[in-house]
Amino acid sequence: MDKSLTFTASQHGDPMQHEIEVVRAQLSDLLAEARHNQEILSRHQTLDLQLIGAHSFRELIGHIFVTLAEICELDQVTLSLLNSQHNLQEMLADLKIDSAEFPFLLFVQSETELRLNNKPLRKPVLGAYDKAQHAKLFAPCAEQPISIAVIPLIRQSKLLGSLNVGSSNPDRFVSDMGTDFIERLGSIIAICLENVINSERLTQIGLTDALTNVSNRRHVEQRMLEEIARARRQHYGISCMYLDIDHFKKINDVHGHHGGDEVLKETAKRIKAELRLSDTLGRFGGEEFIVLLVNASHSDAKHVAERIRKSVAEKAFILSMTGLCDVTLSIGIATLSDDHNLGEIENAAQTLLLRADRALYSAKDQGRNRVCESLED
Ligand code: GH3
Ligand code: MG
Ligand code: MG
Repeated sequence: MDKSLTFTASQHGDPMQHEIEVVRAQLSDLLAEARHNQEILSRHQTLDLQLIGAHSFRELIGHIFVTLAEICELDQVTLSLLNSQHNLQEMLADLKIDSAEFPFLLFVQSETELRLNNKPLRKPVLGAYDKAQHAKLFAPCAEQPISIAVIPLIRQSKLLGSLNVGSSNPDRFVSDMGTDFIERLGSIIAICLENVINSERLTQIGLTDALTNVSNRRHVEQRMLEEIARARRQHYGISCMYLDIDHFKKINDVHGHHGGDEVLKETAKRIKAELRLSDTLGRFGGEEFIVLLVNASHSDAKHVAERIRKSVAEKAFILSMTGLCDVTLSIGIATLSDDHNLGEIENAAQTLLLRADRALYSAKDQGRNRVCESLED
Protein backbone atom coordinates (compact mmCIF):
# COMPACT_ATOMS: atom_id res chain seq x y z
CA MET A 1 0.00 0.00 0.00
CA ASP A 2 1.17 3.57 -0.69
CA LYS A 3 1.91 4.96 2.78
CA SER A 4 2.01 8.61 1.74
CA LEU A 5 -1.48 8.32 0.28
CA THR A 6 -2.90 6.77 3.43
CA PHE A 7 -1.26 9.45 5.54
CA THR A 8 -2.71 12.29 3.46
CA ALA A 9 -6.17 10.77 3.40
CA SER A 10 -6.47 10.20 7.17
CA GLN A 11 -5.11 13.70 7.85
CA HIS A 12 -8.00 15.33 6.05
CA GLY A 13 -10.80 13.01 7.16
CA ASP A 14 -11.03 11.86 3.58
CA PRO A 15 -14.15 9.81 2.73
CA MET A 16 -11.82 7.25 1.21
CA GLN A 17 -10.18 6.73 4.57
CA HIS A 18 -13.59 6.27 6.13
CA GLU A 19 -14.38 3.65 3.52
CA ILE A 20 -11.11 1.86 4.22
CA GLU A 21 -11.96 1.77 7.90
CA VAL A 22 -15.42 0.42 7.20
CA VAL A 23 -13.93 -2.29 4.99
CA ARG A 24 -11.33 -3.04 7.65
CA ALA A 25 -14.04 -3.40 10.29
CA GLN A 26 -16.06 -5.64 7.98
CA LEU A 27 -12.97 -7.73 7.33
CA SER A 28 -12.31 -8.06 11.02
CA ASP A 29 -15.96 -9.09 11.61
CA LEU A 30 -15.69 -11.64 8.83
CA LEU A 31 -12.49 -13.00 10.31
CA ALA A 32 -14.09 -13.25 13.75
CA GLU A 33 -17.07 -15.04 12.21
CA ALA A 34 -14.80 -17.40 10.29
CA ARG A 35 -12.89 -18.16 13.50
CA HIS A 36 -16.16 -18.72 15.34
CA ASN A 37 -17.40 -21.03 12.58
CA GLN A 38 -14.10 -22.88 12.59
CA GLU A 39 -14.48 -23.35 16.33
CA ILE A 40 -18.06 -24.66 15.93
CA LEU A 41 -16.93 -26.98 13.14
CA SER A 42 -14.11 -28.34 15.22
CA ARG A 43 -16.46 -28.90 18.22
CA HIS A 44 -18.89 -30.71 15.97
CA GLN A 45 -16.11 -32.83 14.56
CA THR A 46 -15.20 -33.81 18.11
CA LEU A 47 -18.85 -34.73 18.70
CA ASP A 48 -19.02 -36.77 15.45
CA LEU A 49 -15.86 -38.65 16.41
CA GLN A 50 -17.21 -39.43 19.85
CA LEU A 51 -20.53 -40.64 18.47
CA ILE A 52 -18.89 -42.77 15.77
CA GLY A 53 -16.29 -44.10 18.21
CA ALA A 54 -18.82 -45.33 20.80
CA HIS A 55 -18.39 -49.06 21.37
CA SER A 56 -21.47 -49.73 23.40
CA PHE A 57 -25.06 -48.59 23.70
CA ARG A 58 -24.31 -47.12 27.12
CA GLU A 59 -21.35 -45.12 25.80
CA LEU A 60 -23.34 -43.83 22.80
CA ILE A 61 -26.31 -42.58 24.77
CA GLY A 62 -23.90 -41.04 27.28
CA HIS A 63 -22.38 -39.00 24.41
CA ILE A 64 -25.81 -38.05 23.12
CA PHE A 65 -27.13 -36.87 26.48
CA VAL A 66 -23.95 -35.22 27.78
CA THR A 67 -21.54 -34.27 24.95
CA LEU A 68 -24.20 -33.29 22.41
CA ALA A 69 -26.03 -31.19 24.99
CA GLU A 70 -22.80 -29.43 25.97
CA ILE A 71 -21.37 -28.87 22.50
CA CYS A 72 -24.63 -27.67 20.99
CA GLU A 73 -25.57 -25.71 24.13
CA LEU A 74 -28.93 -27.41 24.50
CA ASP A 75 -31.03 -27.33 27.63
CA GLN A 76 -32.57 -30.75 27.07
CA VAL A 77 -31.75 -33.75 24.93
CA THR A 78 -33.93 -36.85 24.94
CA LEU A 79 -34.11 -39.92 22.78
CA SER A 80 -37.41 -41.63 21.98
CA LEU A 81 -36.71 -45.12 20.71
CA LEU A 82 -39.17 -47.42 19.02
CA ASN A 83 -39.23 -50.55 21.09
CA SER A 84 -40.85 -52.70 18.42
CA GLN A 85 -37.83 -52.89 16.10
CA HIS A 86 -35.27 -54.63 18.26
CA ASN A 87 -37.06 -55.40 21.44
CA LEU A 88 -34.82 -52.79 22.91
CA GLN A 89 -36.13 -52.72 26.43
CA GLU A 90 -35.36 -56.40 26.80
CA MET A 91 -31.90 -55.86 25.38
CA LEU A 92 -31.22 -53.10 27.88
CA ALA A 93 -32.29 -55.35 30.73
CA ASP A 94 -29.85 -57.99 29.41
CA LEU A 95 -27.11 -55.36 29.27
CA LYS A 96 -27.99 -54.53 32.87
CA ILE A 97 -28.89 -50.97 31.89
CA ASP A 98 -31.42 -49.73 34.38
CA SER A 99 -33.80 -47.28 32.70
CA ALA A 100 -33.78 -45.23 35.92
CA GLU A 101 -30.12 -44.53 35.12
CA PHE A 102 -31.13 -42.70 31.93
CA PRO A 103 -34.28 -40.64 32.54
CA PHE A 104 -33.83 -39.01 29.11
CA LEU A 105 -34.09 -42.33 27.31
CA LEU A 106 -37.74 -42.84 26.41
CA PHE A 107 -39.49 -45.69 24.66
CA VAL A 108 -42.44 -45.64 22.31
CA GLN A 109 -44.24 -48.76 21.20
CA SER A 110 -45.28 -47.66 17.70
CA GLU A 111 -44.62 -45.06 15.01
CA THR A 112 -47.99 -43.45 15.63
CA GLU A 113 -46.73 -42.24 19.01
CA LEU A 114 -44.12 -40.20 17.12
CA ARG A 115 -46.60 -38.49 14.78
CA LEU A 116 -46.53 -34.70 15.06
CA ASN A 117 -49.17 -32.36 13.61
CA ASN A 118 -50.97 -35.52 12.49
CA LYS A 119 -48.13 -36.41 10.15
CA PRO A 120 -45.66 -39.29 10.27
CA LEU A 121 -42.25 -38.09 11.44
CA ARG A 122 -40.01 -38.12 8.34
CA LYS A 123 -38.39 -34.66 8.49
CA PRO A 124 -37.21 -32.58 11.46
CA VAL A 125 -39.96 -30.58 13.13
CA LEU A 126 -38.81 -27.27 14.62
CA GLY A 127 -40.70 -24.62 16.53
CA ALA A 128 -42.17 -23.55 19.81
CA TYR A 129 -42.70 -26.15 22.51
CA ASP A 130 -46.33 -27.19 22.71
CA LYS A 131 -47.08 -29.16 25.85
CA ALA A 132 -50.02 -31.08 24.37
CA GLN A 133 -47.94 -32.39 21.47
CA HIS A 134 -44.39 -32.51 22.78
CA ALA A 135 -44.58 -33.34 26.49
CA LYS A 136 -44.32 -37.08 25.74
CA LEU A 137 -40.99 -36.46 23.95
CA PHE A 138 -39.31 -34.70 26.83
CA ALA A 139 -38.45 -35.93 30.30
CA PRO A 140 -41.13 -35.11 32.87
CA CYS A 141 -38.42 -34.47 35.48
CA ALA A 142 -36.79 -31.62 33.54
CA GLU A 143 -37.81 -28.02 32.95
CA GLN A 144 -39.98 -27.43 29.88
CA PRO A 145 -38.04 -26.09 26.90
CA ILE A 146 -39.29 -23.01 24.99
CA SER A 147 -38.25 -24.03 21.48
CA ILE A 148 -37.61 -27.55 20.25
CA ALA A 149 -36.47 -29.69 17.35
CA VAL A 150 -37.73 -33.24 16.90
CA ILE A 151 -35.35 -35.05 14.58
CA PRO A 152 -36.35 -38.41 13.05
CA LEU A 153 -33.75 -41.16 13.24
CA ILE A 154 -34.13 -43.14 10.03
CA ARG A 155 -32.11 -46.09 8.75
CA GLN A 156 -32.90 -47.78 5.46
CA SER A 157 -36.29 -46.03 5.40
CA LYS A 158 -37.16 -47.37 8.84
CA LEU A 159 -37.87 -45.04 11.73
CA LEU A 160 -35.75 -46.03 14.76
CA GLY A 161 -37.04 -43.19 16.90
CA SER A 162 -36.42 -39.48 17.36
CA LEU A 163 -33.78 -37.24 18.84
CA ASN A 164 -35.54 -34.45 20.71
CA VAL A 165 -33.68 -31.31 21.61
CA GLY A 166 -34.94 -28.33 23.52
CA SER A 167 -33.72 -24.84 24.31
CA SER A 168 -34.83 -22.08 26.68
CA ASN A 169 -34.14 -19.63 23.86
CA PRO A 170 -37.34 -19.06 21.83
CA ASP A 171 -35.32 -18.20 18.69
CA ARG A 172 -33.12 -21.28 18.81
CA PHE A 173 -35.50 -23.49 16.81
CA VAL A 174 -38.00 -21.82 14.53
CA SER A 175 -40.07 -23.50 11.85
CA ASP A 176 -38.52 -21.81 8.79
CA MET A 177 -34.91 -22.48 9.84
CA GLY A 178 -32.55 -24.48 7.63
CA THR A 179 -32.30 -28.07 8.81
CA ASP A 180 -29.16 -29.31 6.99
CA PHE A 181 -27.08 -29.54 10.15
CA ILE A 182 -29.90 -31.11 12.14
CA GLU A 183 -30.62 -33.70 9.44
CA ARG A 184 -26.94 -34.61 9.26
CA LEU A 185 -26.82 -35.04 13.05
CA GLY A 186 -29.94 -37.24 12.86
CA SER A 187 -28.32 -39.42 10.18
CA ILE A 188 -25.10 -39.86 12.17
CA ILE A 189 -26.97 -40.75 15.35
CA ALA A 190 -29.24 -43.20 13.48
CA ILE A 191 -26.23 -45.01 11.97
CA CYS A 192 -24.40 -45.11 15.30
CA LEU A 193 -27.49 -46.38 17.12
CA GLU A 194 -28.05 -49.12 14.61
CA ASN A 195 -24.39 -50.13 14.81
CA VAL A 196 -24.19 -50.35 18.57
CA ILE A 197 -27.52 -52.17 18.80
CA ASN A 198 -26.35 -54.74 16.23
CA SER A 199 -23.01 -55.15 17.89
CA GLU A 200 -24.54 -55.52 21.37
CA ARG A 201 -26.95 -58.09 19.92
CA LEU A 202 -24.14 -60.11 18.37
CA THR A 203 -22.12 -60.11 21.57
CA GLN A 204 -25.23 -61.13 23.43
CA ILE A 205 -25.95 -64.02 21.04
CA GLY A 206 -22.49 -65.44 21.79
CA LEU A 207 -23.16 -65.21 25.51
CA THR A 208 -26.75 -66.36 25.56
CA ASP A 209 -28.40 -69.74 25.75
CA ALA A 210 -30.58 -69.91 22.64
CA LEU A 211 -33.42 -71.88 24.24
CA THR A 212 -33.99 -69.98 27.47
CA ASN A 213 -32.42 -66.63 26.56
CA VAL A 214 -30.45 -66.50 29.80
CA SER A 215 -26.63 -66.45 29.93
CA ASN A 216 -24.82 -69.54 28.69
CA ARG A 217 -22.24 -71.44 30.69
CA ARG A 218 -19.27 -69.53 29.25
CA HIS A 219 -20.85 -66.22 30.17
CA VAL A 220 -21.75 -67.29 33.71
CA GLU A 221 -18.19 -68.48 34.29
CA GLN A 222 -16.82 -65.19 32.99
CA ARG A 223 -19.31 -63.17 35.07
CA MET A 224 -18.43 -65.19 38.13
CA LEU A 225 -14.75 -64.17 37.89
CA GLU A 226 -15.72 -60.53 37.31
CA GLU A 227 -18.18 -60.52 40.19
CA ILE A 228 -15.78 -62.18 42.64
CA ALA A 229 -13.12 -59.60 41.71
CA ARG A 230 -15.62 -56.80 42.24
CA ALA A 231 -16.86 -58.28 45.53
CA ARG A 232 -13.26 -58.26 46.75
CA ARG A 233 -12.68 -54.66 45.76
CA GLN A 234 -15.90 -53.46 47.29
CA HIS A 235 -15.86 -55.81 50.28
CA TYR A 236 -19.14 -57.58 49.98
CA GLY A 237 -20.33 -61.16 49.91
CA ILE A 238 -21.33 -63.11 46.85
CA SER A 239 -23.66 -66.09 46.77
CA CYS A 240 -24.07 -68.81 44.22
CA MET A 241 -27.11 -71.04 43.66
CA TYR A 242 -27.01 -74.28 41.76
CA LEU A 243 -30.53 -75.22 40.62
CA ASP A 244 -31.60 -78.48 39.03
CA ILE A 245 -35.09 -79.46 37.86
CA ASP A 246 -36.29 -82.61 39.63
CA HIS A 247 -37.04 -85.73 37.58
CA PHE A 248 -36.66 -83.86 34.35
CA LYS A 249 -36.12 -87.09 32.44
CA LYS A 250 -39.64 -88.08 33.43
CA ILE A 251 -41.01 -84.70 32.29
CA ASN A 252 -39.44 -85.34 28.89
CA ASP A 253 -40.91 -88.86 28.85
CA VAL A 254 -44.42 -87.69 29.69
CA HIS A 255 -44.55 -84.37 27.80
CA GLY A 256 -42.06 -85.02 25.02
CA HIS A 257 -38.84 -83.15 24.27
CA HIS A 258 -40.80 -80.11 23.12
CA GLY A 259 -42.73 -80.06 26.42
CA GLY A 260 -39.39 -80.41 28.25
CA ASP A 261 -38.05 -77.39 26.35
CA GLU A 262 -41.11 -75.36 27.33
CA VAL A 263 -40.49 -76.32 30.98
CA LEU A 264 -36.89 -75.12 30.69
CA LYS A 265 -38.00 -71.77 29.25
CA GLU A 266 -40.71 -71.20 31.85
CA THR A 267 -38.37 -72.24 34.69
CA ALA A 268 -35.78 -69.69 33.51
CA LYS A 269 -38.53 -67.06 33.38
CA ARG A 270 -39.76 -67.80 36.89
CA ILE A 271 -36.23 -67.76 38.32
CA LYS A 272 -35.47 -64.46 36.59
CA ALA A 273 -38.63 -62.88 37.96
CA GLU A 274 -37.29 -63.35 41.51
CA LEU A 275 -33.90 -61.73 40.82
CA ARG A 276 -32.54 -58.21 40.78
CA LEU A 277 -31.07 -56.63 37.66
CA SER A 278 -27.57 -56.95 39.13
CA ASP A 279 -27.86 -60.73 39.64
CA THR A 280 -26.78 -63.18 36.96
CA LEU A 281 -28.80 -66.16 35.78
CA GLY A 282 -27.33 -68.75 33.48
CA ARG A 283 -28.16 -72.16 32.09
CA PHE A 284 -25.26 -74.40 32.94
CA GLY A 285 -26.36 -77.22 30.68
CA GLY A 286 -29.31 -79.63 30.47
CA GLU A 287 -31.83 -78.77 33.21
CA GLU A 288 -29.32 -77.02 35.45
CA PHE A 289 -29.16 -73.31 36.18
CA ILE A 290 -26.77 -71.10 38.10
CA VAL A 291 -27.62 -67.86 39.86
CA LEU A 292 -25.04 -65.39 41.14
CA LEU A 293 -26.31 -63.00 43.75
CA VAL A 294 -24.08 -60.02 44.26
CA ASN A 295 -23.86 -58.12 47.49
CA ALA A 296 -26.04 -60.76 49.14
CA SER A 297 -25.49 -62.41 52.49
CA HIS A 298 -26.07 -66.11 53.02
CA SER A 299 -29.46 -65.45 54.59
CA ASP A 300 -30.48 -63.16 51.66
CA ALA A 301 -29.54 -66.00 49.29
CA LYS A 302 -31.61 -68.48 51.31
CA HIS A 303 -34.65 -66.21 51.07
CA VAL A 304 -34.28 -65.74 47.31
CA ALA A 305 -33.74 -69.49 46.79
CA GLU A 306 -36.86 -70.30 48.77
CA ARG A 307 -38.85 -67.76 46.77
CA ILE A 308 -37.64 -69.34 43.51
CA ARG A 309 -38.42 -72.86 44.74
CA LYS A 310 -41.94 -71.80 45.65
CA SER A 311 -42.63 -69.89 42.45
CA VAL A 312 -41.77 -73.02 40.42
CA ALA A 313 -43.51 -75.57 42.64
CA GLU A 314 -46.68 -73.72 43.56
CA LYS A 315 -48.17 -73.10 40.13
CA ALA A 316 -48.36 -75.91 37.57
CA PHE A 317 -46.78 -75.12 34.18
CA ILE A 318 -49.15 -74.95 31.22
CA LEU A 319 -47.58 -76.67 28.21
CA SER A 320 -48.87 -75.93 24.71
CA MET A 321 -49.34 -79.54 23.60
CA THR A 322 -49.88 -81.59 26.74
CA GLY A 323 -51.42 -79.18 29.25
CA LEU A 324 -50.58 -79.02 32.94
CA CYS A 325 -47.22 -80.16 34.27
CA ASP A 326 -46.04 -80.03 37.90
CA VAL A 327 -42.41 -79.00 38.18
CA THR A 328 -40.11 -78.79 41.19
CA LEU A 329 -36.53 -77.66 41.65
CA SER A 330 -33.74 -78.57 44.05
CA ILE A 331 -31.38 -75.77 44.99
CA GLY A 332 -27.93 -75.73 46.58
CA ILE A 333 -26.50 -72.46 47.86
CA ALA A 334 -23.04 -71.36 48.91
CA THR A 335 -21.66 -67.95 49.90
CA LEU A 336 -18.25 -66.36 49.78
CA SER A 337 -18.37 -63.85 52.59
CA ASP A 338 -16.18 -60.81 52.43
CA ASP A 339 -13.65 -62.13 54.97
CA HIS A 340 -13.27 -65.53 53.22
CA ASN A 341 -12.98 -64.20 49.71
CA LEU A 342 -9.22 -64.85 49.40
CA GLY A 343 -6.67 -66.55 47.11
CA GLU A 344 -6.78 -66.91 43.33
CA ILE A 345 -10.04 -65.70 41.85
CA GLU A 346 -10.32 -68.80 39.62
CA ASN A 347 -9.93 -71.06 42.69
CA ALA A 348 -12.47 -69.06 44.65
CA ALA A 349 -14.96 -69.40 41.75
CA GLN A 350 -14.40 -73.14 41.47
CA THR A 351 -14.73 -73.67 45.20
CA LEU A 352 -17.93 -71.64 45.32
CA LEU A 353 -19.48 -73.68 42.50
CA LEU A 354 -18.36 -76.98 43.98
CA ARG A 355 -19.89 -76.12 47.34
CA ALA A 356 -23.18 -75.07 45.74
CA ASP A 357 -23.15 -78.32 43.73
CA ARG A 358 -22.58 -80.39 46.88
CA ALA A 359 -25.42 -78.58 48.62
CA LEU A 360 -27.62 -79.34 45.60
CA TYR A 361 -26.87 -83.03 45.95
CA SER A 362 -27.85 -82.88 49.62
CA ALA A 363 -31.17 -81.37 48.51
CA LYS A 364 -31.65 -84.24 46.04
CA ASP A 365 -30.70 -86.78 48.74
CA GLN A 366 -33.16 -85.31 51.21
CA GLY A 367 -36.08 -85.79 48.82
CA ARG A 368 -35.87 -82.92 46.24
CA ASN A 369 -38.02 -79.74 45.99
CA ARG A 370 -35.93 -78.10 48.69
CA VAL A 371 -33.11 -75.65 49.35
CA CYS A 372 -29.90 -76.86 51.01
CA GLU A 373 -26.96 -74.73 51.98
CA SER A 374 -23.25 -75.22 52.19
CA LEU A 375 -22.07 -74.04 55.58
CA GLU A 376 -18.36 -74.31 54.91
CA ASP A 377 -17.67 -70.59 54.41
P1 GH3 B 1 -32.91 -85.48 39.14
O1 GH3 B 1 -34.16 -85.21 39.88
O2 GH3 B 1 -32.00 -86.38 39.92
O3 GH3 B 1 -32.21 -84.24 38.73
O4 GH3 B 1 -33.30 -86.28 37.84
P2 GH3 B 1 -33.39 -85.78 36.36
O5 GH3 B 1 -34.23 -86.71 35.60
O6 GH3 B 1 -33.83 -84.37 36.36
O7 GH3 B 1 -31.87 -85.76 35.91
P3 GH3 B 1 -31.07 -86.47 34.79
O8 GH3 B 1 -29.72 -85.82 34.79
O9 GH3 B 1 -31.12 -87.94 34.96
O10 GH3 B 1 -31.82 -86.08 33.45
C1 GH3 B 1 -31.72 -84.87 32.82
C2 GH3 B 1 -32.44 -84.95 31.51
O11 GH3 B 1 -32.48 -83.68 30.86
C3 GH3 B 1 -31.77 -85.88 30.53
C4 GH3 B 1 -31.74 -85.12 29.22
O12 GH3 B 1 -32.29 -85.86 28.17
C5 GH3 B 1 -32.61 -83.91 29.48
N1 GH3 B 1 -32.17 -82.73 28.77
C6 GH3 B 1 -30.93 -82.17 28.73
N2 GH3 B 1 -30.94 -81.07 27.96
C7 GH3 B 1 -32.20 -80.92 27.48
C8 GH3 B 1 -32.84 -79.96 26.62
O13 GH3 B 1 -32.24 -79.01 26.13
N3 GH3 B 1 -34.16 -80.14 26.37
C9 GH3 B 1 -34.86 -81.17 26.90
N4 GH3 B 1 -36.16 -81.27 26.62
N5 GH3 B 1 -34.30 -82.09 27.69
C10 GH3 B 1 -32.99 -81.98 27.98
MG1 MG C 1 -29.06 -82.51 36.27
MG1 MG D 1 -32.56 -82.94 37.28
